[in-house]
Amino acid sequence: MIKFLDLHKINERFREEIDARIKQVLDSGWYLLGNQDKEFEKNFAAYCGTKHCIGVANGLDALNLIIKAYSFGAGDEIIVPANTYIASILAISENGCTPVLVEPDINTYNINPDLIEEKITPNTKAIMVVHLYGQAVQMEKIWALAKKYDLKVIEDSAQAHGAGVNVNGEFKRVGNLGDASGFSFYPGKNLGCMGDGGAVTTNDDELATKIRAIANYGSDYKYHHIYKGTNSRLDEIQAAILDVKLPHLDKDNARRREIAKYYRENIKNPKITLPQTYSEDAHVWHVFVVRCDDRDALQKHLEANDIQTNIHYPTAPHKQGCYSEYAHLSLPVTEKIHAEVMSLPISPVMTDDEVKKVVEVVNAY
Ligand SMILES: *Cc1c(COP(=O)(O)O)cnc(C)c1O
Repeated sequence: MIKFLDLHKINERFREEIDARIKQVLDSGWYLLGNQDKEFEKNFAAYCGTKHCIGVANGLDALNLIIKAYSFGAGDEIIVPANTYIASILAISENGCTPVLVEPDINTYNINPDLIEEKITPNTKAIMVVHLYGQAVQMEKIWALAKKYDLKVIEDSAQAHGAGVNVNGEFKRVGNLGDASGFSFYPGKNLGCMGDGGAVTTNDDELATKIRAIANYGSDYKYHHIYKGTNSRLDEIQAAILDVKLPHLDKDNARRREIAKYYRENIKNPKITLPQTYSEDAHVWHVFVVRCDDRDALQKHLEANDIQTNIHYPTAPHKQGCYSEYAHLSLPVTEKIHAEVMSLPISPVMTDDEVKKVVEVVNAY
């Protein structure tokens, strides 16, 4: 059986180091907001190229806290790609803001920058870009719009740790492409812990201080409560695990790129549309998403050949029960994507034989 994602195998590679770091936490008797958190925050900020990293409880909270810290609420609109994972949209609506759904580009699956301007109103406060499936959004047009209309750019980087774009000859990673970025360290992400975890990165000193406060009951950590905050902390054990895994992220992403390259060069089947990337650096292949008119039949064919697959995602957010107020919207590109996509196995621990077998089975469909 070729697993879609073998998390045990992924983490087993670091077992000794993880054991030792967890022991440090046990020995320290300090379980939240301690040295492990501080160390990981410092290292992850350096990795992303930002001034600040704030560890939080999960990726949804990271996005939520950014919106809260900007005090966006009822009546404020935030532009977001219509085909994103629902968490991006939930973070907006949880704050009472209105998500304004914009169609993606069918080639990159990322927000179509040419469709944003027509959705901007006097109530628009921010553009949330989502580096979906692991591919960094091409930011130039988005930065220009943000400047023209005085909007914040919020990144949802939950699927794209390590991906980046070249800006005037300089490689800049996601997390450092907007005003603030939310990351998730859910176990299945490219950088994953062993439970829930997340982070906000930003270069904005004031925003960083405010998010750190809001995430700790809105306090200055001395029981003076300045904001009606919440509780969203990254625990020491998760921070320790992430700090062990972070130095291996680039190598793991390189292996994902190698597998993606092999798939793209060797899958030859007219019934299947392969994913595209505009630059090798831009994509860290969190998932390898193909399209097929009859993806259910394709999925069954792979299953019959002992290959696990997944669908990211089967239903568009505006067709979900919880967003019935958007059910009337016509978003044909988004709807096509949700009807046709299927994700093949990809991970840093897949063997060459497994990768070859996937190609053979897909080509035989
Ligand atoms: C995983 C994910 C999130 C949410 O992260 P959690 O840690 O599960 O809360 C947000 N946005 C996207 C695009 C994701 O893939």
